[in-house]
Amino acid sequence: MSEKFDTPFQSNIVPTILELGSTLKFRCYKGISCFNACCKNADITLTPYDIIRLKQRLGKTSTELLKEHTVPFQMDQDGLPGVKLRTTDDGACLFMTDEGCSVYEDRPTACRYYPLGNMIRLDTGSKEAHVDYVLIKEEHCKGHEEARELTVHDYLVEQETAQYDEMNKEWQQLMLMKRSGGPSVGKPPEATLQMYFMCAFDMDRFRRFVLSDNFKATYDLEDSTYEVLAKEDVSLMQFGSRLMKQVFFGLRTIPEKNGVWEKRVDERQEVWDARRQAEIQRQQQTEDERYSGDD
Ligand code: SF4
Ligand code: SF4
Repeated sequence: MSEKFDTPFQSNIVPTILELGSTLKFRCYKGISCFNACCKNADITLTPYDIIRLKQRLGKTSTELLKEHTVPFQMDQDGLPGVKLRTTDDGACLFMTDEGCSVYEDRPTACRYYPLGNMIRLDTGSKEAHVDYVLIKEEHCKGHEEARELTVHDYLVEQETAQYDEMNKEWQQLMLMKRSGGPSVGKPPEATLQMYFMCAFDMDRFRRFVLSDNFKATYDLEDSTYEVLAKEDVSLMQFGSRLMKQVFFGLRTIPEKNGVWEKRVDERQEVWDARRQAEIQRQQQTEDERYSGDD
């Protein structure tokens, strides 16, 4: 089984699959006839690291950035929350200027990749994600008519995607695990989805949550860890993905105070069993409906 993670810039055009060594013919520069055409019709899904870069660039809190520059959407059938860049009513990115992108050095992952997208899949039995690249050719983009030819690898180096890839890795893995988890995960309750949103995107609110007395009474962390989480957005983001893996899948990498886990298991066992049962029934019903026409 393979799982797709994300394809930046939605398009009706069927993309071509590429490897790192594949070549593409492409050049984008100020002065090209289509300059800014892509940003006038922006459909950009943001990663947690994109949020950090943008909020630091603009000197805003994550809560302010989310309110002013993003719109929420559902990433899967379970209502897993995601965010996209907010646009004007005409679809233009709010960061677009006549001179180009006003946040260029901190532009989101999807903007760096374009006209490439990445499709991340988790092969059956493997814990390592595999990345395929796709070339997205849209009519308005004249960069494909330019004479320059280069490898996917060299294009990604030019666009400085490496740091973004590294920073996005943990969250991508979490999403893949969630998508391939089946009935053992089930549809998360609303409170868990809200917690996911906070951990992934609203890190300043998440920071207050982590530094609260309630959190400290539950989790057994060193004071030095709290000091780092109080100051560093990236460390907090990485901690957030660990916490969500713990919440979704029970992967206990964050130590809890004595007896807390057992108490929670006692309290929640009935709820977890009911959720698992409901999910199995839902999947069974879907299968029955799919094959009912085959008799
Ligand atoms: S963030 Fe910059 S590159 Fe990305 S769509 Fe907006 S203006 Fe274009
Ligand atoms: S060449 Fe493509 S990516 Fe570059 S400005 Fe034109 S539409 Fe945008």
